[in-house]
Amino acid sequence: MTSPLPSLEALLIAPACEVLLARFGRAATVATLREELARLRASRRFPVAADAVLDLAADALARRFAPVQRRVFNLTGTILHTNLGRAPLPPEAAAAAAAMAHPTSVEFDLATGRRGERDAPISELLRALTGGEAATVVNNNAAAVLLVLNTLALGREVPVSRGELVEIGGSFRVPEIMSRAGAKLVEVGTTNRTHPRDYQNAIRPETALVMRVHPSNYAVTGFTAAVPLADLAGIAHEARLLLVEDLGSGSLVDLAAWGLPHEPTPRASLAAGVDLVTFSGDKLLGGPQAGLVVGRADLVARLNANPLKRALRLDKGRLAALEAVLRLYLTPERLSERLPTLRLLTRPAPEIRAAAERIAPALHVALPDHLVAVTPCRSQIGSGARPLDLLDSAAVTLGGDALDSLAARLRALPIPVIGRIGAGRLWLDCRCLDATEEPDFVAQVSSLL
Ligand SMILES: *Cc1c(COP(=O)(O)O)cnc(C)c1O
Repeated sequence: MTSPLPSLEALLIAPACEVLLARFGRAATVATLREELARLRASRRFPVAADAVLDLAADALARRFAPVQRRVFNLTGTILHTNLGRAPLPPEAAAAAAAMAHPTSVEFDLATGRRGERDAPISELLRALTGGEAATVVNNNAAAVLLVLNTLALGREVPVSRGELVEIGGSFRVPEIMSRAGAKLVEVGTTNRTHPRDYQNAIRPETALVMRVHPSNYAVTGFTAAVPLADLAGIAHEARLLLVEDLGSGSLVDLAAWGLPHEPTPRASLAAGVDLVTFSGDKLLGGPQAGLVVGRADLVARLNANPLKRALRLDKGRLAALEAVLRLYLTPERLSERLPTLRLLTRPAPEIRAAAERIAPALHVALPDHLVAVTPCRSQIGSGARPLDLLDSAAVTLGGDALDSLAARLRALPIPVIGRIGAGRLWLDCRCLDATEEPDFVAQVSSLL
């Protein structure tokens, strides 16, 4: 009697298996074929032809090894969406990172032919852009805070206002990073009001430095009081202590110049007397993931001498991308054309509405069961920047039933489209759909039909 299932050996020499072996390799193909055979054996629905088993294995392999990191259309209405990679990079930065296909001068001084200082170009640019004496750069802002606290406050106390004990996205919490850095958090003041005397009373011989944290993703309003930064610097310096600030997003330029809500800048913090300021590279700055630390040269030298710096340092690809982005800031008058983050933030609502009106007909044709409309909406900056300030925008909204499955169909497109469900509709905020991307968008939408 012939076996109701083909043997593994027979499957491996079948012509249809050749493409699986070439694409996924022998080990993964064999393991998947074994799994499929075991599943079929357990389901007892015999007989099964070899090609049918190979089809099942091909699907399983494709599912398992499909590229996970893919370009998507971010139509969520959140510009710096942490789950969608935060800031989109300018082409200059993407090109600089792509040059990593070749050997690079990342740690090599081309003038002397000797070993070079890895962070020197970034430090030079940040000096020019913030007025700080020196700068260093690490994996992200969480790493920057960790490095600063571990270097300057190991085994000692750090007073922080209770109004600033922030949690960012669940995994960065000030009290936890403080204890992992080996410093001891001393809570001062209350959630809504902290006064100069609260800090002054907390300062003891065990105090290493005073810390200010920008309450990025929430706002304390109503009956509130905080100590102005310059006053806090005065309090720290009078006690011969340092003041360090975690600025969170930290925009290198004053966004108010582009009609956007004001966000504090590292330059203003340093001018107010902060000794070291840390901020993210991929939030409002609009660059790759990175943590930047700017301030006093002697303190930056101590950060660079900490063995943790080596563990937290930036790879050459992101260093090159960050350098390219910082270079764009040398000409702020052209920044809103050249830096995608700023271009998206300043995109006028009528222009976004026009984009929504251009793509709506294709959605109307492709999704006859859904009511398609162009609707005003509000975008948010995201990544903890100005959570209460929303920007006027426009969306294509899709009404009707089964919005979850519609959202899933949009996510299954060749370039997945990510929207947002709310108020009984699926919202596609068109702010982050660049005019140059519209043809790609429209072309793939017609495949929904
Ligand atoms: C975002 C943020 C962080 C964490 O920055 P990452 O670059 O994501 O590590 C830390 N502190 C504040 C205040 C933030 O807003």
